[in-house]
Amino acid sequence: MAVGLAVPWGRPSTGPGREAARIVDVGCVRLWLTEVAGSLEAERDFLTQLDAAIGDADHGINMHRGFTAVMRRVDGLDPATPGTLLKTAGRTFVSTVGGAAGPLYGTAFLQAGDALGGEPSFGPRRLLEALRASLDGVQRIGAASEGDKTMVDALAPALAAYQLELRTGGSLETAVRAASQAASDGARATVPMQARKGRASYLGPRSVGHQDPGATSTALMFAALERAVVADRSQRFARPRGSRS
Ligand SMILES: [Mg+2]
Repeated sequence: MAVGLAVPWGRPSTGPGREAARIVDVGCVRLWLTEVAGSLEAERDFLTQLDAAIGDADHGINMHRGFTAVMRRVDGLDPATPGTLLKTAGRTFVSTVGGAAGPLYGTAFLQAGDALGGEPSFGPRRLLEALRASLDGVQRIGAASEGDKTMVDALAPALAAYQLELRTGGSLETAVRAASQAASDGARATVPMQARKGRASYLGPRSVGHQDPGATSTALMFAALERAVVADRSQRFARPRGSRS
């Protein structure tokens, strides 16, 4: 990964609260998965409408079913680490969701879990590595590039925005906010694109004018990540100093 050595990562820590806020632990990852599940339930019909326009009208149903199964599986996982939660999510997704979404999202979660290893918590740079592993995995499986009107059009800009924010002195919170904004912008930017991958590509020019459902569900996941990190930080500040859980 090309990282300028002269560019510092993160602003200097100014105290225990600040330092604690930069760490993602298993509680925060659970919170993220819970936020994703809630969001996919709330947006199930919207995602299915998007898929009805340029696909086979099952994306919302598939994502909701997959994440319902994920939550059942990870709720019973104890003890857990961020890595085991994400790998369990990935395996569950692969085994419960058909079509393209199952293997693609399954791979994204599995690769992120692998990148996080067995550590009980991680900082913003490790999250960058996990996001990169997810994107690499998705591109390996789907062979899609930016501009093909797929989930890569949300995931790749989110990763780029996250990295830029960290490299220019941002915190975990500002980086996930930048990623969420970029993913959302990326999903909207798929509207004028002609699909070159997946079922939508069969439509040729008729795929233009519709937002990609996969890019949209990816943007929902980044929005959920931002909410989880912010909520986790608030809980942390509310706890007594030194307390980790
Ligand atoms: Mg579909």
